Amino acid sequence: MAGFRFRCTECATPYDENDVRLVCAACADKQEPGGVTRGVLEVELDELPTNWPQAPPSHPDFLTAFLPIPSAEHLPPLPVGGTPLVAAPQLRQALGMPRLWVKDDTRNPSGSTKDRASLLVVAKAREYGYDTVAAASTGNAATALAAVSASAGTRAILFVPANAPEAKLVQMLSYGATVLPIDGNYDDAFELCLAACEEFGWYNRNTALNPFTIEGKKTAGLEIAASLAPEVPDAVLVPVGDGVILAGVAKGFSDLDRSGLIDRVPRLIAVQPEGAAAIVTALTEGRETIRPIPGAQSVADSLTVEAPRNALQCMNVIRASGGSGVAVSDEAILTAIPRLASLSGVFAEPSAAAGLAGLDVALEEGLVERGERVVVLVTGTGLKDVPAAARAVERPGVIAPTLEAVAARV
Ligand SMILES: [Zn+2]
Repeated sequence: MAGFRFRCTECATPYDENDVRLVCAACADKQEPGGVTRGVLEVELDELPTNWPQAPPSHPDFLTAFLPIPSAEHLPPLPVGGTPLVAAPQLRQALGMPRLWVKDDTRNPSGSTKDRASLLVVAKAREYGYDTVAAASTGNAATALAAVSASAGTRAILFVPANAPEAKLVQMLSYGATVLPIDGNYDDAFELCLAACEEFGWYNRNTALNPFTIEGKKTAGLEIAASLAPEVPDAVLVPVGDGVILAGVAKGFSDLDRSGLIDRVPRLIAVQPEGAAAIVTALTEGRETIRPIPGAQSVADSLTVEAPRNALQCMNVIRASGGSGVAVSDEAILTAIPRLASLSGVFAEPSAAAGLAGLDVALEEGLVERGERVVVLVTGTGLKDVPAAARAVERPGVIAPTLEAVAARV
């Protein structure tokens, strides 16, 4: 891999890797407690591959070609990414979209896209000599950090809202992480993690604050492009909480555009729940920044944030792509779980099924045409929140163990 520098996404100041670890020093002065993260840094690689690597996407050779790591030496051994782009003919037929794909990121080791960010963050932590990495999370990022840390032998300290879904809590505990359930919401956990990292000298994986979270998630964009090459999707729908997955997908496509491996970038469409739609509202109203939503509420726990930390960069990359945002109701999100599962075989948690619900709205609003090449990113498995999925299916009554009873039922 060639060298890299950081560049501030707000003021464009460049930084050497050795001079800064998290955000732009100049823009950090503008940071408000609990507000969007100011001075988010983007990785700028000196060189990018001009040919697709021979190795598959989860292989260290592919990762070292595209990621800011000097070698594969510090990469955690757990394979991450390389998830399938599913053609889903039943879903295509139901929607009248012959060129629709589902990017099934439920197949990552801890079951979510967040594994991609954790892989790179833990690799950098090892390279920098940290033995402890901390993160605040609504659940998936913490679980991802726990899984990747377990494979690498790094200590993970996790700040999560005490009401995070049970499966996510059990999962991170099983990976052996130190879990701190916070009597508060995600935004409270974020601030506490920030303070604790400063106090105790831990490496901070907080989303957006750590530039490698965006850079790690770009592999989702790289993989979508690699699967469809030489074609490029017209639009990609991405569920948005803090806006880091969407920014990561955008970074993947923009790196490929720079390298000449693709000749244009897709429109990016952010999908947020109606109860936590700060970014979509700001996009729709044409504002430069978001208004936080105190008491944000949604069945999609991973998307329920009051002040999306990466709002500024997320809105910039959406606008630059010619994309937009759509808001979806909790009811539409819940209904999308069995729809997606029964028409594609992909079982999603509410936050991930939101992408399909968003596609319905994008079609209605004319943001996507049925004939276009469209990808819906499914960011987390339904097994992470079974009680939510249970609300959207009808449970059959018990039958007697007889053929007559079977015949009567089917
Ligand atoms: Zn700056």
